Amino acid sequence: MIDIHTHILPGLDDGAQTWEDALDMARAAVAEGIDTVIATPHHANGAYSNEADAIRRRAEQFRERLAEEGIPLRVECGQEIRVHDDLLDAWQRGELLSLAGSDFVLLEMPTGRIPSGMADLIHELKIMGKKPIIAHPERNSEVLRYPERLSQLIEVGAYAQVTTHSLLGLFGKKAEESAWSLCRAGLIHIVSSDAHHVERRGFRLQEAYELISSKLGEKFKENFRQNAASVLYNRSLNESVVFEKSVNIWGKIAGFLRKS
Ligand code: FE
Repeated sequence: MIDIHTHILPGLDDGAQTWEDALDMARAAVAEGIDTVIATPHHANGAYSNEADAIRRRAEQFRERLAEEGIPLRVECGQEIRVHDDLLDAWQRGELLSLAGSDFVLLEMPTGRIPSGMADLIHELKIMGKKPIIAHPERNSEVLRYPERLSQLIEVGAYAQVTTHSLLGLFGKKAEESAWSLCRAGLIHIVSSDAHHVERRGFRLQEAYELISSKLGEKFKENFRQNAASVLYNRSLNESVVFEKSVNIWGKIAGFLRKS
């Protein structure tokens, strides 16, 4: 499996703090069946600033440590970029990183709202040949209230990544319900762990894929899995699958009729 959003590089943000933390996470990833992770340290979120060169250097050191320890995990560089006014200029200055050298870029919105210039930013990035992926929209309170606003961003050209922990109910009921309803509505393209720590906030990717398969069907799971690979290899993403709503509606009506 491929995980495109992780905080596995040590000492850069609120993810792994030490080399031991990072190696523990790597061992856990491999044990779960993850062979490739994209390391996406926070950048420009007010608390952490991690420019491209620093991430590349840390990733290179990490690859050496993994080789020494005999842990078969491929680590690619990325960045979780907080949406900010300087973002497009920062691209030009070479401070930002796409995911694994692809055209895909991982964007983080503030948790309380969708920034007012979000659609314009997506449009500008598209013009630059970039493919923005919005990280965990299910945890954004404006998306929770107005999911159609995420739909509008996707129409402009964005993609969306849901977090395994939201699907598994570990971030509370609201995030869980939002995560599943966005998946059902075809507004999610990729599933990823956003792993920060082996115990407190691990990967659980396999578990999430299994739940997706049982709740939404194999086609959803396959789509998500293929899309994670497509990010890594810079291919086009699959069209989102929309859950057969009519089946639900007819099922509910049938249930109602049976009771009455
Ligand atoms: Fe993250």
